[in-house]
Amino acid sequence: MTGVVDSGVRQETRTPPLAMVVGPTRQAPSVLEKLSEPAPPLTDPGFIAEFGRCLRRLREVVGTTTGAVAVVPGSGTIGMESIALSLLQPGEPVLVVSTGMWADRWRDICLRNHIPAVALEVAPGQAPDLGRVDEALRETRFQAVLVAHADSSTGVRADLAEIAKRARQHDALCFVDGVSAIGAEEVEFDDWGLDVYLGGPSKALASAPGLGIYALSERAVRRMRDRTWIPSTFALDLAPWLPVMAATERGEFAYFQSPASNSVVALSESLRLVLAEGRQARVDRHARLRDRLHAGLAALDVQVLVADVRDRANGVTVCVVPEGIEEHDLLRAVADEGVVVQAGTLVTAGGERTFRFGHMGVVDAADVDRALAAVSAGLSRCRAGR
Ligand SMILES: *Cc1c(COP(=O)(O)O)cnc(C)c1O
Repeated sequence: MTGVVDSGVRQETRTPPLAMVVGPTRQAPSVLEKLSEPAPPLTDPGFIAEFGRCLRRLREVVGTTTGAVAVVPGSGTIGMESIALSLLQPGEPVLVVSTGMWADRWRDICLRNHIPAVALEVAPGQAPDLGRVDEALRETRFQAVLVAHADSSTGVRADLAEIAKRARQHDALCFVDGVSAIGAEEVEFDDWGLDVYLGGPSKALASAPGLGIYALSERAVRRMRDRTWIPSTFALDLAPWLPVMAATERGEFAYFQSPASNSVVALSESLRLVLAEGRQARVDRHARLRDRLHAGLAALDVQVLVADVRDRANGVTVCVVPEGIEEHDLLRAVADEGVVVQAGTLVTAGGERTFRFGHMGVVDAADVDRALAAVSAGLSRCRAGR
């Protein structure tokens, strides 16, 4: 909460602001404890054992026994580019199934790296049109289909099982940007037939930023091994990491680049927390909190961008700024109520502005209620011109 002192300057009182953001998100105390430990040397047997546990927990969280897993330094965007450079052959087209701005990023990364990209777009807030995916795959031979699991610019969740099935029918690989989904959405990497799943540490996993988190199918691993082209990157190539990760899982030391060791130890703890809560229980908690938020927003007459409830992501919500209110004024009024929500990154098909909530990771019903109360008060203030 904030208070006003005599000088008119707003000052923090005891309750710190609540950040309902997409990331980095609030970290659990046990994760913060891990982050405060000295960085272990990369050859330290205790560290290698912890890194191995981290990788095994990752397998369990994404649902793979047959694939390869990797945790390497980087951001989500670096991860997307690493995947493109490591697995995609320049000159061969890819299909980008768009549900928002993260598809634009996939496309831009591909185009910059001489990989032709065809984007299948939908109106903001709409899920992919599977019929058009079928049609596109029938018309052109694509080497891969690229999609975001949960797009944080629209709040749309894509049906990965259906998209991966279609990719496979046409012998295309399926690469998923799950940066804002892992830890909040169901992922069944093996069962759904995904080829690459990219996760991020600092969104629904509520861990330290600075890591790329990967699962790769046997098909994807084979594709890297059998590359007939030389990737135009050294540092971002995922291929040299795979034997290092396999060695780490066996408890042996191997080196390609220095691991982000503090972040790895913190991630291991975050993944332990996911498994301790239970994979399904965690997904259910996020879905419940999303529904609670959406019911509250409906009561305030605030429109959620994604119309169809089945297409709504569990951890992020994009809303339309109500008519007659300036986005900037609304964000400030809500912040004055002690809750941070974020500006939207897109306008609707009708030209309306949007704003966003993250509700992922370390979050509960009280947080959602506090956010709703702040939005309610913020809207009243804006309407009263205060
Ligand atoms: C945040 C995000 C990214 C990018 O992650 P950075 O670490 O900021 O580069 C990619 N995809 C999605 C869906 C995201 O939400």
